[in-house]
Amino acid sequence: MRRIFISDLLKENITITGADAHHLSRVMRAKAGDHIVVADDEGRVGEYVMTGFTEDSVAMELVNYIDENTESPVEIILAQCLPKGDKLELITQKATELGINTIVPLSSDNCVVRYDAKKARVKQEKWQKNANEAGKQCGRSCLPTVQEIQPLQKWLEEMATQQEDIAICMCYENEEQTGIKEFLASSGQKRFAVVIGPEGGFSLAEAEKARQLGIPSVSLGTRILRAETAAISAMTIIQYEKGDLGGRS
Ligand code: SAH
Repeated sequence: MRRIFISDLLKENITITGADAHHLSRVMRAKAGDHIVVADDEGRVGEYVMTGFTEDSVAMELVNYIDENTESPVEIILAQCLPKGDKLELITQKATELGINTIVPLSSDNCVVRYDAKKARVKQEKWQKNANEAGKQCGRSCLPTVQEIQPLQKWLEEMATQQEDIAICMCYENEEQTGIKEFLASSGQKRFAVVIGPEGGFSLAEAEKARQLGIPSVSLGTRILRAETAAISAMTIIQYEKGDLGGRS
């Protein structure tokens, strides 16, 4: 069944406006009597029946609340250095399907793309839209947040100093000792953050900065993966080892 998200709490009668209303009535040609799944800000989900349409709104009535939670028991943040072209759109879509909660686009020494403030805002909105669409398609109970673009070293400092209950690792192509498997086996946390470099990899200064801050480098194996492969693999591995990707239990 089609799914929409509202930034309000579910109640008996709700009215949808804006892009979702337009999409339902104009694009999907929904009619009174059609059913839809609605998820709210707090992850509550309900089945609704559409009861009335105006030019720019759709009225709905609750059929029943649905006892579903498609969110993982662990929180995962993907910190992704800006890749070329529209690769972050793909990564955002996959991150959403894989149950990631937050995507932080980072600018780093070897990033090829540089956006001015206006373009950065437009990009952030686009990525958030990608996440929202993927979240509807794959049945998330809560949508992930795409944060604004931040400088890598500043973000590493903030994470290392402010967040104590989170296990952070940097997937580093030159790491020869510690594998991500080993890193995860030694972390008992429920919150994880994984940092992935751009096509050009991390600079020595960035790797050194992470080391100084106590953020371990981890390997994803002997082959050099493309940035998007590395991101998708790392998210999958964390969700499999610590979260809900092993199947329904
Ligand atoms: N240009 C670099 C590779 C960069 S790959 C080189 O040739 O060495 C892009 C990003 O994917 C890396 O910065 C890292 O975060 C991740 N990555 C790719 N392969 C990896 C591996 N085997 N182990 C850990 N991280 C990897």
